[in-house]
Amino acid sequence: MSETSTGAPANVDSNGHSTKRATPVGGQMPLKGLAKGMWVTLRELFRRNQTVQYPHVKEEPHPRARGVIGLLEENCTVCMLCARECPDWCIYIEGHKEKRPPRRAGAKPRTRQVLDRFDIDYSLCMYCGICVDVCPFDALHWSPEYDYTEFGIAEMLHDKKRLGHWENTRRDQPAYEKGSKMKVKVKK
Ligand code: SF4
Ligand code: SF4
Repeated sequence: MSETSTGAPANVDSNGHSTKRATPVGGQMPLKGLAKGMWVTLRELFRRNQTVQYPHVKEEPHPRARGVIGLLEENCTVCMLCARECPDWCIYIEGHKEKRPPRRAGAKPRTRQVLDRFDIDYSLCMYCGICVDVCPFDALHWSPEYDYTEFGIAEMLHDKKRLGHWENTRRDQPAYEKGSKMKVKVKK
């Protein structure tokens, strides 16, 4: 093996790294990769854009998109199930009990839960949808609206009025795709 003036073998620098140039794999032309890259760039230049200039241009999301959760207040019975199941603990519910007249004469007065507060903190929410799925009274629904960024994190707490607004932005759901089935409750 030949040696350099520093005593290191030829094709090896003073740090022991190889100075050999890599040979083209399979005897390929050295400019072939460059030409291929330029061709891809040229082809993509004339393709239709897949992105939009948000926020100047807004995309219409799919009706089933998980943008934000809306609350149908009259369906909520303050059962707290959604708040208990939320893995992020970002649903805050408060309510109180009210007495209502009995349905039949002589019966005891009825007790009804009234919703005082229903907030979702979207700075914590991870959009898992568990609250929507577990609600036994169909009070929570997905809306595809997504444009609710804020400058302050505190503004990401949406109260029941704002959640009611989101409820009104729900879209009609498209028909189920062929072969898919609507979710049905299994009787036990
Ligand atoms: S689970 Fe449904 S009914 Fe119960 S508190 Fe939540 S939204 Fe209201
Ligand atoms: S989507 Fe998930 S994380 Fe967000 S409020 Fe509902 S249960 Fe909590």
